[in-house]
Amino acid sequence: MKHFDIAIIGLGPAGATLARLLDGKFFRVAAIDKKGADSSFQKPCGGLLAPDAQKELAKFNLTLPKDILVDPQIFSVKTIDLKNRITKHYQRMYLNIDRSKFDSWLISLIPKNVKIFKNSICQYMLKTQRGFKIVFDENGHKQEITADYVVGADGADSFVRRMFFPKFNIRKYTAVQQWFKDEHQKPFYSCILDPENTDCYSWALSKDGHFIFGGAYPVSNSREKFERQKEKLSELGFKFPEPVKTEACMILRPNSFTEFCLGGGNVFLIGEAAGFISPSSLEGISSAFKTAKILGDIFNKHKENKHRAYASASRGLRFKLAAKLIFKCPFIYDSAFRKAVMNSGIKTIRTEE
Ligand SMILES: Cc1cc2nc3c(=O)[nH]c(=O)nc-3n(C[C@H](O)[C@H](O)[C@H](O)COP(=O)(O)OP(=O)(O)OC[C@H]3O[C@@H](n4cnc5c(N)ncnc54)[C@H](O)[C@@H]3O)c2cc1C
Repeated sequence: MKHFDIAIIGLGPAGATLARLLDGKFFRVAAIDKKGADSSFQKPCGGLLAPDAQKELAKFNLTLPKDILVDPQIFSVKTIDLKNRITKHYQRMYLNIDRSKFDSWLISLIPKNVKIFKNSICQYMLKTQRGFKIVFDENGHKQEITADYVVGADGADSFVRRMFFPKFNIRKYTAVQQWFKDEHQKPFYSCILDPENTDCYSWALSKDGHFIFGGAYPVSNSREKFERQKEKLSELGFKFPEPVKTEACMILRPNSFTEFCLGGGNVFLIGEAAGFISPSSLEGISSAFKTAKILGDIFNKHKENKHRAYASASRGLRFKLAAKLIFKCPFIYDSAFRKAVMNSGIKTIRTEE
């Protein structure tokens, strides 16, 4: 059985970044991820890289290869308020990307000294006297490793969080998303607010000849709410032919400053596994980068009390995300506020028909 200093579970933006940043001179690192070379598993995502995430890439001194971008790049969001029957356009600076290629690129940046287990699903973990025993299925074969530290970077439905912190509760939604052949005359990006079906939001966007429609819905009857919304949007001219692909997964939406699970007892959680995602926009890639950088620095600087250091260094980010519940969410999700804001015309842009 192989022993490592640190085992990272999950190689999305958070895990892949941490694996890239950990100092190979000091740490033997293992990284386990269920994605494989054959793209059999792909993370459901809108694939929009927000300015905050772009800024983190800039701080890492990384430039984005052009084959990660998709067609087209869209500079405005058409915001549709189905309750108040208002539509407005706002400028947006997102990059439209291929999320699967983006994740593969981040993994390609991990140094060779990190032992990567692809096509591997973590199934069981046990705290032992020396550290942790980690059991996973690699291409259908049972594997076991041991490690001193475990980092859960395994996303919203984190196995690591469920295993070690089963009682920790973070507000959850079900994200449902479908891909269609794009039959619209012009590509577009849209954000839909429809309190009848969800107190969160839905999105629609064009991507490389496809049209994606998805939303975050309260967990019960999420699929019915998704279908009801499609019917409403069909009446507004949205085109939903036979879906090419349907995806669904959990998405977190922290509801207070205390709804972040940072870990304990040499288990750390980063990225969405810990609840780091914007409760207003559901943008999670920038926080995945930020928490990976914070934890990477703590390990590389050999901080004594790593848990205390992580809590302290991530406090600002937790405040920033929790503050969105007070300063942003009401203006987006409260129908009366939203109506006033949209009708005020603040920050709206006029688009030619
Ligand atoms: C439908 C949808 C649309 C979204 N759109 C956007 C968007 O446009 N822009 C944006 O910024 N954010 C978006 N988000 C949020 C964003 O995708 C996440 O917050 C972000 O990916 C979190 O990064 P992460 O590295 O923490 O986790 P993830 O990206 O979820 O990565 C977790 C990794 O862990 C692996 N894994 C999970 N369980 C196991 C296991 N048991 N064993 C081994 N490996 C495991 C998975 O393979 C995965 O690669 C969206 C989310 C959803 C659900």
